[in-house]
Amino acid sequence: MARLCFKHYLISMLCTITVLATGTSHAEGVVVYSARIEQLIKPMFDAFTKESGIGVKFVTDKEGPLLARLKAEGKNTPADMLITVDAGNLWEAAREGLLKPVESKILESNIPAYLRDPENQWFGLSVRARTIIYNTRRVKPGDLSTYEALADPKWKGRLCLRTSKKVYNQSLVAMMIAELGEAKTEQIIKGWVANLATDPLSDETRAMEFVAAGKCDVTIANTYYYGRLMQKKPSLPLAIFWPNQAGSGVHVNISGAGITRYAHNAPGALKLLEFLSSEKAQNLFADVNLEYPANPGVPVDPVVAAWGSFKQNPINVKKAGELQAEAVKLMDRAGYK
Ligand code: FE
Repeated sequence: MARLCFKHYLISMLCTITVLATGTSHAEGVVVYSARIEQLIKPMFDAFTKESGIGVKFVTDKEGPLLARLKAEGKNTPADMLITVDAGNLWEAAREGLLKPVESKILESNIPAYLRDPENQWFGLSVRARTIIYNTRRVKPGDLSTYEALADPKWKGRLCLRTSKKVYNQSLVAMMIAELGEAKTEQIIKGWVANLATDPLSDETRAMEFVAAGKCDVTIANTYYYGRLMQKKPSLPLAIFWPNQAGSGVHVNISGAGITRYAHNAPGALKLLEFLSSEKAQNLFADVNLEYPANPGVPVDPVVAAWGSFKQNPINVKKAGELQAEAVKLMDRAGYK
């Protein structure tokens, strides 16, 4: 009820009175703004409502419009929780003052420190691995080693990449800056650009299709795109390679959530967030999108497990946000469109 109240002062007063009179504000529903689409979130919300009796209403949109909306609504936002992909976006939401820190022993124990905000404003709920995908007819796994090595001239005319406009690549490059420094990273990105077989592509499914068709031999993609494509076209000559296993590990990012600064039902939202980090919801959250659970105690989906285990880069995903602006400038300087 209070959700409907934000627009008009008069209605708002009535709502406040109703809430006070019934004393049910905490048992009321939770409102979620989600950049994850309905089919990826609704199963968990239904499970949560069944267990807690707390209803969940949600609005789905792209992350940009959702953040803009939260900002414009300010204190009047009906949203209690924001769900979005990429630590870069969650970091941005926190920087804009749209999220609120929460203390929760459950979240601290369920979600490893490198997958959550050190200031507790957001928490990773699933892990996406950004890795190398190669054409199995044209490349031997032994030819591959690291992301950095894709800058080697031996890959000239053999690399396809998704556009640098996508936050996933901005986060990848930001993490590289954190580890290797700016000068080294710029050199690598210039090497990638020099090796491109074609202009950067709008999405990574397309990039993998180019690899499969032999227009290029390798690309960098999130594994769930690989999983989806192979479920549709299992005979494509594509495979996953886990890079940087002798060093820092595979670049991982998260999809995650935070409680909004002006949540009307912060206690309900916290319960939902804790539920999403629990074993029960973690499988649903990760498996529906062929991702990895953020909670390390939860087994991965068998389809995903079949891709093999790998070492994740344990650097805090917050770096992806902090260094995003630098990453964008660096990619621009390097000519990565
Ligand atoms: Fe994606």
